[in-house]
Amino acid sequence: MPPVPRDRFINPYTFVPLPASGVRRASPPLHTEGPEEKRFTGSFTVEWVLQTPLLLPVKAREEGWLRADGTVRIPGSAIKGSVRSAHETLFNGCLRVFDSEFIPGYRLPARSGAESDDAPAVLAVVTRSRDGVPLEVSPCDGVEWVESTSLRKAYADRRINRLPRTGDIITISGVREPSELRQADEVFDVTGVSPVTRAAISHDDGATAEAALPDQGSVLLITDTSARRPTREDGTPADCFWAAGIIGSAQRAVVPEQAAKQFWSACEGSRDRQELRQGERRGDAADWKGATQYARVKWRNQPVGERARATGFLHAGDVVWVTLTADEATVESIRLARIWRETGTATAGERVPPSLLACWTTEPSDPRPGTRGPEGGLCLSCTIFGSADTSGAQSGEGRQDAYAGHVRFGSARSTTGVRPLDVQLAPLSSPRLGAGVFTLVDRGTSEELGDIASHWGSTVDQPEPRQLRGRKFYWHVDPDRQADRWSSELRRSTPVLPRYKARDHQSRKGLSRAAQLVPAGTTLTQEITFEGLDDVALQSLLIAIDPARLLTLYRPTARVATHLGGGKPFGLGAVAARITTFSMWHSSDRYGAHAAPLPDPGFDRSVYPRIVARAGRLENPRAVARLLDLDGAGDWRDHVAYPPGATWDQIDVPNQRGFVPFDESYHFFGQANGERLAGPPPHNRPWHPLPSLVEKDGSDTRPDLPIDPERRGGRR
Ligand SMILES: [Zn+2]
Repeated sequence: MPPVPRDRFINPYTFVPLPASGVRRASPPLHTEGPEEKRFTGSFTVEWVLQTPLLLPVKAREEGWLRADGTVRIPGSAIKGSVRSAHETLFNGCLRVFDSEFIPGYRLPARSGAESDDAPAVLAVVTRSRDGVPLEVSPCDGVEWVESTSLRKAYADRRINRLPRTGDIITISGVREPSELRQADEVFDVTGVSPVTRAAISHDDGATAEAALPDQGSVLLITDTSARRPTREDGTPADCFWAAGIIGSAQRAVVPEQAAKQFWSACEGSRDRQELRQGERRGDAADWKGATQYARVKWRNQPVGERARATGFLHAGDVVWVTLTADEATVESIRLARIWRETGTATAGERVPPSLLACWTTEPSDPRPGTRGPEGGLCLSCTIFGSADTSGAQSGEGRQDAYAGHVRFGSARSTTGVRPLDVQLAPLSSPRLGAGVFTLVDRGTSEELGDIASHWGSTVDQPEPRQLRGRKFYWHVDPDRQADRWSSELRRSTPVLPRYKARDHQSRKGLSRAAQLVPAGTTLTQEITFEGLDDVALQSLLIAIDPARLLTLYRPTARVATHLGGGKPFGLGAVAARITTFSMWHSSDRYGAHAAPLPDPGFDRSVYPRIVARAGRLENPRAVARLLDLDGAGDWRDHVAYPPGATWDQIDVPNQRGFVPFDESYHFFGQANGERLAGPPPHNRPWHPLPSLVEKDGSDTRPDLPIDPERRGGRR
């Protein structure tokens, strides 16, 4: 056997390109096309066989997934969501579960002059907020910088039984010195603090809250220290300072909705918000939407303060950096640090063809081509599955004109009792949509100094924003098999864990949760009924359930499977479908009960041109066939990982500081961002877009990328 490459990986997800446009048809929502005698009503049984373990939801027992008799039951709505998403991909359906308002936020590089075009940021206290949205702030008169260790000691000396915290209002005694670097005073040795207060909440009706500030004092802003260097360039220990805003004037500045929104977007993808969301899924989250959450920060291993977590919500009394308009009456932008994140440009919705925006969110009066909504037409997926689907993340929205579609999904039950496997589940991270190197159509890198091609809003987005790469799909890979492969390859005394199992360092940080898996090999059966479907709709439905009907035409060897349940990023829930019993009638005969039932029509090639006429051409059948093939990753099936920060022989190996470099994906995204550099060639940082799935001749491409993106050429 050839040696297994240890310096390459394949990303767990990739994209099926979007069609140039979707097709909406203005048929009345309760009917597919054609006269009744050309429509069908019937039912069939589907047998689902798990190819990899199925992840049960947190409340599997309460929600009826695990039955008292030991069987497993998957609610019809969960399977409907999965079948529908296959249908949308295969037949150019609208992007139903899609946040068209999304804009990513980026950390601003701490480059000198980065702020020179902007008004300087000033500290401000939020004085009025509604439901966590800031409405008004009080800008401080100035700022000074307070050394963290002596400040903590001053708190202890005054017998204050907690750490300094963002929002504390204090009077600081100490030795001050002007700092040229910061253009402000530094209090490098705090000798004492006066009584510590916080902005008094003067009004709170449950929605709108107002804070009153004292006439004098300084308000603290404690920030994350993890990105700071503990030593100076000469090796001496570095100091850590907090900003303290000087309270004085009674001036107020209003926060326009736009500035609040940008701040919210900039916090999207923050580690804080991810952790709080994870806690929410585990059911143990604090009320992070209703009140400021604090996190302890350390400096040289000592706790020195408590920062407010970057949730995106701001409440009365919170402290932020703002930039102001020239008259200082209006806030232009809000940040959590003086040098912070900027947002990209062009929303997700502006990066897809308008005719693919969700049918039920677009208006019939929208003049842009292809955007017209319900009365203006529905895509084939909406026609069949309806719009009252609650399995999607943000579906329904309680619209009056929502309807249930033509298909009903019964629950799927295991034929025998099942013994679920207990595991400690690794954290599920969601892909960073802001990492344009993966998520946007590749247009290469820029020649403008400092431009980062990976950012939404890079000059590469001119003149038209780059489109989203497509619909996200996870490779089918068997996580247990991958772990076995590396255990034997690396000859470890402790076996390599499968990707879905939490590592020690993840459990220690509270990032894992207990979970149950239904073992691979389990069979579940389900009844599906349909009513009034024409042959075009029926054929497409059967293909969405069992895509092998169509896809083996393009990839004869494919073992086709789709996904059920959670844990897709780990390769969990791969499931193969087979339609067993089937009977249908012409809709006109259904209640006459005289006609014999019609059998499963199978894949009817003669209908296919009419499917294309209704839904548009299937533009990437070979790419979809490869992604749904259990063997689609080929020789790279055991190399699936989010971009590793170290080679495969380092998997699960902690460094001296207790971190596991293999698990640190940000190295890849930080290095492979295509930034245009000054100096001699090569002129750009590495640029490694996700490989496309198939060559022009239809054969498979290599799906792998280098783990160390700086290594040029990076061949095996
Ligand atoms: Zn639609």
